[in-house]
Amino acid sequence: MDSAKSYIKNLAPYQPGLPIEIVARRYSLKTDSIIKLASNENPHGPSPAAIAAIKRSLQSSHRYPDIFQLMRSLSQDLHMPESSLVIGNGSNDIIDLIARTFLGENDESIISQYAFAMYDVATQAAGASSCIVPAVNYGHDLQAMKNAINSKTKVLWIANPNNPTGTFIPHNVLEKFIASVPKNIIVVVDEAYYEYLEPSERDNTALWPAKHPNVIVVRTFSKIHGIAGMRVGYGIATPRIAELINRVRLPFTNNHLGIVAATGALTDHEFITMSRTTNASERLRLEQLFALHAIDFIPSKGNFITLRVLDAESVSEHLLRSGIIVRPLTNYGMHNWLRVSIGLPKENDRFIHTFIPLVSQAKKK
Ligand SMILES: *Cc1c(COP(=O)(O)O)cnc(C)c1O
Repeated sequence: MDSAKSYIKNLAPYQPGLPIEIVARRYSLKTDSIIKLASNENPHGPSPAAIAAIKRSLQSSHRYPDIFQLMRSLSQDLHMPESSLVIGNGSNDIIDLIARTFLGENDESIISQYAFAMYDVATQAAGASSCIVPAVNYGHDLQAMKNAINSKTKVLWIANPNNPTGTFIPHNVLEKFIASVPKNIIVVVDEAYYEYLEPSERDNTALWPAKHPNVIVVRTFSKIHGIAGMRVGYGIATPRIAELINRVRLPFTNNHLGIVAATGALTDHEFITMSRTTNASERLRLEQLFALHAIDFIPSKGNFITLRVLDAESVSEHLLRSGIIVRPLTNYGMHNWLRVSIGLPKENDRFIHTFIPLVSQAKKK
């Protein structure tokens, strides 16, 4: 359609991790023999409290969703007023709502190279342009991002920990940076992997918007809570900013089951702690193995590890044929890097047994 906006026609479509069904058909494999380590989902499945809540709520599916029950629970859990919250259809929706609220033609976003791809998509879809700041050690170069601020800058995006690199800016360092950014620029702190941080390495960043009114913290139920398919995320901002974003948000973008699932998952502390501790020990085990085999990887604070191989496309293809789905990062401009989500111990075993011989052989050639 020629009448589409020119900046929409220039948008590169997002490439998600390959779904299990497609891999099963393409390689003639049984779906239950496939392990998906490609989209940073929780390998333990959904929070059991989420499942229980969904079962209880199926009967009321004829009702429109009530997001206020989730807002009340979040408000209690985070110790903040409901007026500071925005609920989204996944945190991708929050990212898009922020872009639509604050960005338009002639405006600019500041984004780090190798940062989560959605910031650039949302920026461009809003008609604005992205200033991509070169990374340092695959992470955000905060000083360079600050230096990139100009009169067009409206939003500065930070993923912490970042996906796809797993890099992390310590909270005291990030808060100092935030305090130094001009107050008229929105700083988005995307914390999709916040709950995977050790309690000792976390500040209560949910309180940042109250201290730094230009900050929006974004979190999700897709990762540690295990309900990516239910599509629920949220933003924390000043009541003024939350109110502006909520004007843009269409009223029923979240579905009923997602809302009840998230409300259940939020306080399923046993599941959250189990997911965090297994992830941490498996991540350490994988990183030690990669180090042992001289495989180049980026130390990660998330539920995934990004590593370098000689030929990512061919390694990925070999793994697919063995029923293991990982994520090549070509579309991030990270040629020959693969992002591997941390699975269950037995899934990681299978990955290691297929992957290590594959790359050790390639090295010897
Ligand atoms: C996975 C992820 C999200 C979550 O997206 P949802 O829409 O909530 O599923 C957001 N930001 C980053 C950096 C992520 O890795």
